[in-house]
Amino acid sequence: MTGKVIVLGAGIVGASTALRLADAGWNVTLCDGGRPGGEGAASYGNGGWISPASIIPMSVPGIWRKLPGYLLDRSGPLTIDWASIPRLAPWLFRFLLAGATEARVTRTARHLNSLLHDAPARHLALAQRIGQQQLVIQKGLLYAYPDRAAFEAESLSWRLRRENGVAFEEWDESELRRQLPALGPNHRFGAYVTKGAHCINTGAYVAGIVEAAIKAGVRFVQRGAYSILTTPTPRVVLDGGDSLAADYIIVAAGIHSGRLMRGLGIKIPLESERGYHVTITSDEVPFDIPVMPSTGKMANTPTEMGLRLSGQVELASVDKAPNWRRAEVLQSHALASYPYLANESQSELKLWMGHRPSTPDGLPVIGPLRQYPGIVTAFGHGHVGLASGPKTADLVLHALDGRQPEREGAFLPARFGC
Ligand SMILES: Cc1cc2nc3c(=O)[nH]c(=O)nc-3n(C[C@H](O)[C@H](O)[C@H](O)COP(=O)(O)OP(=O)(O)OC[C@H]3O[C@@H](n4cnc5c(N)ncnc54)[C@H](O)[C@@H]3O)c2cc1C
Repeated sequence: MTGKVIVLGAGIVGASTALRLADAGWNVTLCDGGRPGGEGAASYGNGGWISPASIIPMSVPGIWRKLPGYLLDRSGPLTIDWASIPRLAPWLFRFLLAGATEARVTRTARHLNSLLHDAPARHLALAQRIGQQQLVIQKGLLYAYPDRAAFEAESLSWRLRRENGVAFEEWDESELRRQLPALGPNHRFGAYVTKGAHCINTGAYVAGIVEAAIKAGVRFVQRGAYSILTTPTPRVVLDGGDSLAADYIIVAAGIHSGRLMRGLGIKIPLESERGYHVTITSDEVPFDIPVMPSTGKMANTPTEMGLRLSGQVELASVDKAPNWRRAEVLQSHALASYPYLANESQSELKLWMGHRPSTPDGLPVIGPLRQYPGIVTAFGHGHVGLASGPKTADLVLHALDGRQPEREGAFLPARFGC
């Protein structure tokens, strides 16, 4: 079956979806008020990790005990804007509940695994499809720890990864030094995810996907959606007033999807886990395997632009001004992790803040709305949207074809009563 589709949002999710649907013969219009690959999207500034190991949700048993410490630690990985707490409270409550027991986390990890287990292969194929093979590199990914005890303190996470078939090697101190001499002596143990991949220019990648989609027949309209109408048929009112009709509307507007849903009277819990990056621009980064030092809970990725340090979770409203102190935290962790950076005083720093579109249960929302089957959701990918973008495109295609396998039911908006 094919027909007319409008995709709202040209981040990694919307761009991959538009291309996938066009390749499957659908007549696709892609709308975004911004420039594809531009800084306004989370897809521009993320850590570039395409990790089959990213199956552990943020909310895990015992997190509620750590929360007060995080909130008081100005250099910790997680912070909440105190003024936003009353608004965030229902989301936070559901977030804590989602990780309250090992059984719940085990279930979430299994669902995330279904999205991520073949993410590197999917991205390699996508990069090939758009003629940009050089942007996705498969050299593995390293989770670095101060010592084996710190690794073992995360035993639940690594056990779940093992049970879900994520292949990794344990590196002792001598192997770590041999493989990554740039990493400082404060890391003496590593878990190396052998099949992990990374993207060396996430903005260019998204722009390349949109370009390929246009070549495949997608019509790109550089205007945002003001609202969505459902009767008599699905229709998008664009910013500025014109409207477009289609058989299906795919909502892939990242954090802004919440507003479009609310306009339809649909309440899906979606909040921004704001994150930051600092790119230390240089011609060459002296290592080629991305690293996540457990001390800073951040992704350190060699990119075309230099070393990108990305991380931090800041629960705050979308329109609150960035708190660049969070970016400084990333930088100070990096200085402690890579001694060579002490001599990089010439480098320029590029700072960025973006919005992880996050649901409280740690799973994206993918599939048709029960109330309006012509409206298909494709948002809420939180920490794993880059990695799971191409697979999401396939799930959307299944939804349009009416052949969504049962195992994909975990992502349906129906779980929020929608
Ligand atoms: C600091 C940080 C690090 C991260 N690291 C990783 C990582 O290493 N690996 C990983 O897999 N994920 C990572 N993520 C998460 C990932 O970036 C997101 O999950 C993903 O980019 C979400 O993609 P998206 O297409 O849903 O949203 P976005 O990329 O935000 O795109 C949404 C698009 O919708 C457009 N839009 C908004 N409103 C409208 C409207 N009304 N009409 C039409 N279009 C609209 C926007 O202009 C934008 O282009 C990270 C995120 C952050 C913030």
